[in-house]
Amino acid sequence: AKDLGKGQARLYHRDLSTKMLDRLAQRSDLERGLAADEFLVHYQPIVSIETGRIAGCEALVRWEHPERGLVSPYEFIPLAEETGLIVALGRLVFDKACAQMHAWLEAGYCGLRLSVNVSARELHEKHYLEDVRTALRKHSIPPTILVLELTESIFALNDPTISSQLSALREAGIKIAMDDFGTGYSSLSYLQKFQLDVLKVDKSFVDGLGVDDLDAGALVSAIITLGHSLRLEVVAEGIERVDQRDELAAMGCGLGQGYLYSRPVTADRMSDLLAAGLSL
Ligand code: C2E
Ligand code: CA
Ligand code: CA
Ligand code: CA
Repeated sequence: AKDLGKGQARLYHRDLSTKMLDRLAQRSDLERGLAADEFLVHYQPIVSIETGRIAGCEALVRWEHPERGLVSPYEFIPLAEETGLIVALGRLVFDKACAQMHAWLEAGYCGLRLSVNVSARELHEKHYLEDVRTALRKHSIPPTILVLELTESIFALNDPTISSQLSALREAGIKIAMDDFGTGYSSLSYLQKFQLDVLKVDKSFVDGLGVDDLDAGALVSAIITLGHSLRLEVVAEGIERVDQRDELAAMGCGLGQGYLYSRPVTADRMSDLLAAGLSL
């Protein structure tokens, strides 16, 4: 580094500050989008693998950007998490999803469950549980139909605030799902440390099913057995083909989600799927 030329050093600094300016611009765009109510929620059905009936849905946020079109959460959730804007965004998604769920319950689709993704930052909010309960009450949603999906990385934080928050949520009747199960470092030890209700088998495992990948089959089958022996519900995500579904059915996996059944769709389209009594 000693012989790093002055020019090169300047280039480095310019590069850094460009990046910082980029992030500042992105942050203020995110703030603008929140104020302008540009975020909406799409829904992906969660289906009983055996019967093909819709058991519920997962709420997935989308950004309807005036210039960029529909933006994927992969592109803005990380920034929202870093800037803390995820707290406001999470509240917004939760409120919209509850309002929509209320409409579906009113229309007579009872027994549906609602899954919502939650970031670590949100669980650190002192009033998180109270905010959730207030929103549920506001929309007359029973807490027992709510599933909060947390990615494995949240459990890795080994944070006392988070574990007490999770116990309080469960005491209130809310279910906790471990999302993307199997992708982290110590998935198994989290199962022992935290009380959970649902295990979501990551798409990367499901991908290997039905393509003559015996190892993938053995892994998924072991995860399902493990989940059931811990009295957890198991949801397989990212099911794209019939052969994957058939293999999961043979393994006794209860619930599934994926493009085979439906991509995430608008609330209106989801209403159509429900009205058709989706059996896929
Ligand atoms: P996730 O929770 O693992 O959600 C599943 C993602 O896989 C969704 O991507 C969904 O559209 C996609 N997917 C579902 N089935 C299939 C399939 O068969 N094939 C393929 N290739 N993909 C499938 P999406 O909607 O782009 O969301 C990406 C991630 O962003 C989510 O991953 C979740 O971690 C995060 N996210 C989405 N909405 C929210 C939110 O409201 N709050 C927070 N904190 N995170 C969110
Ligand atoms: Ca999820
Ligand atoms: Ca997932
Ligand atoms: Ca995933």
